[in-house]
Amino acid sequence: MDVPGDFTEQKDLMIHAARRAYDIRLQSGDGGNLSIRLPGTNTILIKASGCSFGDMTHEDIVAVGLDGQLAAGEARKPSREIATHLAVYRSREDIKAIFHCHSPWSTAASLCFDTWPPVSLPQEMKIGIVEVLSLGEGHADSNVADAVKNFLSSRPDVKAFVQQRHGIFCMSSGIIKAEHDAELVEEAAQIAMLAKIGGAFSDNGKLL
Ligand SMILES: [Zn+2]
Repeated sequence: MDVPGDFTEQKDLMIHAARRAYDIRLQSGDGGNLSIRLPGTNTILIKASGCSFGDMTHEDIVAVGLDGQLAAGEARKPSREIATHLAVYRSREDIKAIFHCHSPWSTAASLCFDTWPPVSLPQEMKIGIVEVLSLGEGHADSNVADAVKNFLSSRPDVKAFVQQRHGIFCMSSGIIKAEHDAELVEEAAQIAMLAKIGGAFSDNGKLL
């Protein structure tokens, strides 16, 4: 599969989103990943495996077809979590970008809630209910893809979900927006956890 062009502008936006997330500690080390759909193609650009959001360069971005095949000339491996990204893009044509990070408040909230309702006006306006998905322990197996596909078919307008014990996935029309949504989900998770400590939730996870 040949992919024409060097996509400098798109890669610059991905790097901007990654560095912003790293700078505010939404992601540490070499975890997390992000991708975009190249307009008019069946191809995505995704972060390579093993690089950090903090010092990502154009060489750390890999072109992959929606069928999972690497583009011609690509030497790097894509993120281990490419199965989740491909499942989203195959299920929702409106999604142009995905941002994923292992941020601590959302991961903690995923252990305490099956879903958490809008705990702030910004969450209510921009994200809505955040659902926690159990996708198993694998990163690239068909179970992950099937679980994501089933979830998206039941929630066609969903903008974000949290994989239990793992982290946030935000899906949007652009990578900057997707990263901003991840910041909001993390903020909402922090509020939800503090509200839970303060007694604002019932035992079954409903706001009192
Ligand atoms: Zn992950």
